[in-house]
Parts: sequence; C-alpha cells; structure tokens
Amino acid sequence: MEPSTLPGRRPPAGGARHVGSIEAVAHPGDDPTAGRAPYLSSRLQPFTTTIFAEMSALAVATGSINLGQGFPDTDGPAEIAEAAVAAIRDGRNQYPPGSGIPELRQAIVDHQRWYYGHDVDPDTEVLVTAGATEGIAAALLALCEPGDEVVMFEPFYDSYAAAVSMAGAVPKVVTLRAPDWSFDPDDLVTAVTDRTRLLLLNTPHNPTGKVFGADELGLIARLCVDRDLLAVTDEVYEHLVYDGCHLPLAGRPGMATRTLTLSSAGKTFSFTGWKIGWAVGPAPLVAATRAAKQFLTFAGGTPLQVAVAAGLAAGPRLIDPLVASLRERRDLFCDGLEALGLPVYRPAGTYFVNTDVAALGEPDAFAFCRSLPARCGVVAVPSSVFYLQPAEGALSEGASLVRWAFCKRPEVLEEALLRLKVLAG
Ligand code: PMP
Ligand code: GLN
Repeated sequence: MEPSTLPGRRPPAGGARHVGSIEAVAHPGDDPTAGRAPYLSSRLQPFTTTIFAEMSALAVATGSINLGQGFPDTDGPAEIAEAAVAAIRDGRNQYPPGSGIPELRQAIVDHQRWYYGHDVDPDTEVLVTAGATEGIAAALLALCEPGDEVVMFEPFYDSYAAAVSMAGAVPKVVTLRAPDWSFDPDDLVTAVTDRTRLLLLNTPHNPTGKVFGADELGLIARLCVDRDLLAVTDEVYEHLVYDGCHLPLAGRPGMATRTLTLSSAGKTFSFTGWKIGWAVGPAPLVAATRAAKQFLTFAGGTPLQVAVAAGLAAGPRLIDPLVASLRERRDLFCDGLEALGLPVYRPAGTYFVNTDVAALGEPDAFAFCRSLPARCGVVAVPSSVFYLQPAEGALSEGASLVRWAFCKRPEVLEEALLRLKVLAG
C-alpha cells in the first residue's frame, strides 16, 4: 500500500531528522517519513532499526561470523542456569515485586559493598529493571522535562539518543577522540548550559572500550556538583576490564547523592538474553525511575532474578575466570587485526575493539560493513552510527571506524581473522 493511502497516517512531520538522530541506523537515503515507518511518531522516526538488528540479520542471511552484535557465543556459568531452572520448577513464576525480588536486591546491595564499599538500602535504593536498556529509558523518562538537555559522550550506545528523544529531551555531545578516546575538558564545560538536566556517562564505554580514569571522573564529578546536575551512569561492563580498574562515578566526591548507577547481569554472566538489570542510587532518584519503570514493564523475569541473585552471591568465583578469558580473546583478536595492518585501538574493557578502515582505503565504515559479509563472511558494525549525524551527505565523526565484538570462542575469532586476510591482500 502506498504510504499516502494508509489509514490514519499523519502528514509527514517536519524536521523529523533532529534531536539525537542516528540517521545511519535509520538507513541514510531513505525518507523515514515516506514509507518505511509511516506510523512512527516523530520522536522515533530516526530510530527505525538498530544497527545490531540489521547486522545480525545480515550475518544469519549470509552465514557470516557475527562479530557485530555484542553477545557471547557460549552460555554463562552452568550453576546460574541451573538456579534458573530450579526456580522455574520451584514455582517462582509469577510477577515479582515491582522493585525486584528481595534476594536479588540484597545480592545487589552486597555486590555494591563488596566491590566498591558503597552502602545502599535494598528497599529504597535498588530497582531491578528489564536489562539496563529499560533502566536508561525509565531514568530519562522520569528525570527529564521536554526540552531539557542531556550531556553525553559520543560515540554513544545506540539506545541513548533514542531514549533521550522519547523523553522529549535534547542530546548535547562531547566527542571522545582516538587513540585514547580522551575528551577536551573545555568541550565538556561548554556542553553544559542552563538547560542541562543530567549527564549520561558510560564506563567502561561501548563502543570504544575506554575505561574512564580517576582524573576524568573527577572532572565530570566537579562539573556535576558545580552546575548541580544529576548523573546517570551506565556501568554494564563494570566487571569486563582488562587493564586498570573500573571506578564507579557514584564514588567520586559529591556524586553519591546525585548519581543513578545502572548495570546488568547480561554482560557480567554472559546471559545477555535474560535482560536482568538494575539501578542503584539515592532513594528519590530510584523512586522517580521506578515510577516510569512500573508503566514500561512493571516487573519481569522472576526465575531469572533468582538465578542472578545466586550469580552475584558467587561474585569473583564466577566473574574472574570470564574476565581472564575475555582478556585473552581481546589480545588474540587485536594482535590478529594488527597483523592485517589495521590501526587497532586496543580496548581497556568491554567486548569491543575499534579499527580505522581508512587504512584500507575505505573512508566509509558503513559501506565497508555492509560489503564485508559478501567479501569474506564476517559481520562487524560501523562505529559511525554511534555518533550524532551531521547534515545530509556529510560523513560523521568516526566515519571510518569499525567495531568488532571479540566475545566469541577463540576458534571463531581465529577463523574470522583468517577470512579477513583478503582485506590485507
Ligand atoms: N548499555 C550498554 C553500554 C550496552 O552495551 C548495552 C548492551 N548490553 C546495554 C546498555 C543494554 O544492556 P541490557 O542488555 O542489560 O539491556
Ligand atoms: N549491547 C550490544 C552491543 O552493543 C547490543 C544489544 C542490542 O542488540 N541492543 O552490541
């Protein structure tokens, strides 16, 4: 059916390519108001299909090795899976309380104390969410008025711009620059205006693999305190650090009372499909986020919450071997990419490494990634989609950066490297 004949279709919204638009995700060249998503509100027009959905579908369709979407190709610890099975058999199958089951909230409290020395109250300062994705959306919906500004670092995880837009807020970005993904402190100061509501941080950082250092976090914290900003910090990769250590933003001076910290079991325990996340912070911030969350999912995943509580209680015994193994795989894959002659930005944490394919004579990472499956049966994602997009036709910051997920079995990474040799030749 022609879009114009669809029942109930609004006239195309003017200026749909706007706030936080990730046009590459929305397929540049398409008019998003014309045919692809004729019913989608203007707030969501730029965000039709995520890069992960597109590239994972491409991997399946072409039988390629999927180094695009960040998910492990092996399950997490069997004892956590068994705890979920036992919980299902034990009848833990009805709605959990909106804040999460008490044993998971207590396990999160113990985790915060054990790893960071932070004391939080399980009843008022912890909220279990449907993955960190829901935590991000609920926090932004709860905390932002339309027109509020949200300061965040680019490149940024794709859901940030969409969630900011759904909240009617406006993203203001500070660019992280290779090779060390540092930022200019003046850029950060300038990004904050009288309309800034909150700063949205992600450390360890997707897609760069950067782990923010003490000086950087100190600077961010001072700015939040001086300008009386809230902070939402996405720390889903808190345990996946290979060099240095993860420092929570909430632990910086002045930040405990103004920071909502988000995390998730997906990455820590290699169960990305379970979508059990959490938010921790001062009671008023958690209460506000809970108010939004109760009308998104209300609650979910009771038996999985039971199992994640068991995983968190086991702590380093289950987490440390995963980190050691991921560090080895990072090195295997980064060494291999370097041997192909690519500039490699070896990450300090996360599942991801970035390379600059301009060195291969490829200025456009998006075009490169779309052609890669046909060329050699490997899928990666263009990091360019994690930047605010410039005007039509121009290349974005990070235009030639490609993100590779190394959270795959060593033999899979080796096979991928073998296939990628065609690029060097
Ligand atoms: N934040 C970042 C930085 C991520 O990489 C991801 C992907 N796992 C998420 C949030 C979403 O986490 P979850 O799967 O728990 O919703
Ligand atoms: N966090 C995963 C990544 O960055 C993707 C999750 C998703 O598909 N939304 O690859």
